[in-house]
Amino acid sequence: MTKSTEHTLRDQIAQFGRSLFQRGYGCGSSGNISVRVDDGVLVTPTNSCMGFLEPEQISKVSFDGTHLSGAKPSKETFFHLAMYEERPRDTAIVHLHATHSVAVSCLDGIDESNVLPPMTAYYVMRIGALPLVPYFRPGDRALADAVRGVARDHHAMLLANHGPVVSAPSLDAAVYSAEELEETAKLYLMIHDRPHRYLTSKQVAELNEAFPN
Ligand code: ZN
Repeated sequence: MTKSTEHTLRDQIAQFGRSLFQRGYGCGSSGNISVRVDDGVLVTPTNSCMGFLEPEQISKVSFDGTHLSGAKPSKETFFHLAMYEERPRDTAIVHLHATHSVAVSCLDGIDESNVLPPMTAYYVMRIGALPLVPYFRPGDRALADAVRGVARDHHAMLLANHGPVVSAPSLDAAVYSAEELEETAKLYLMIHDRPHRYLTSKQVAELNEAFPN
């Protein structure tokens, strides 16, 4: 990967971070974005606000987590690395503490194998199944093993009492999927206790056949 390609990726992380922050997908220093490059991973710095990222300050770590350049990496970098290990096709991860997804992650009685129902075609196409990962305190390395176990079969997951993690083959796809997930969580909270119709299993099967992941 050339220097100019990495430079472009740093700019794109800052641009998407600003866009997500300005539209309310993160607040304070919550959430992080990472992109895999040839010799490691670019990741948003610890205690940084997604809305005000300086491209050259974005951290770079090796695949074993060693800090290579930029500011000190996010304290949540370790579970990004675990997810990349399991998903060689994916090159970007977005993790948010977005309000509605976090609210859903705190609900009792949800289906832990697939938290949100198939409400819309775009949710099924962009996310599909959304397993719940058990709660771990911030910094607990056991979270990496839990994420690794789920990432083998899923590119999206919801960390209990915490927030969503989504990976994709490109940064824009990871951002769009994270947005779709948050908007679906919002819709779910709006209608789940009212009479509603979700997509049927036949409609979901038809989507999975037409748009395989
Ligand atoms: Zn987090």
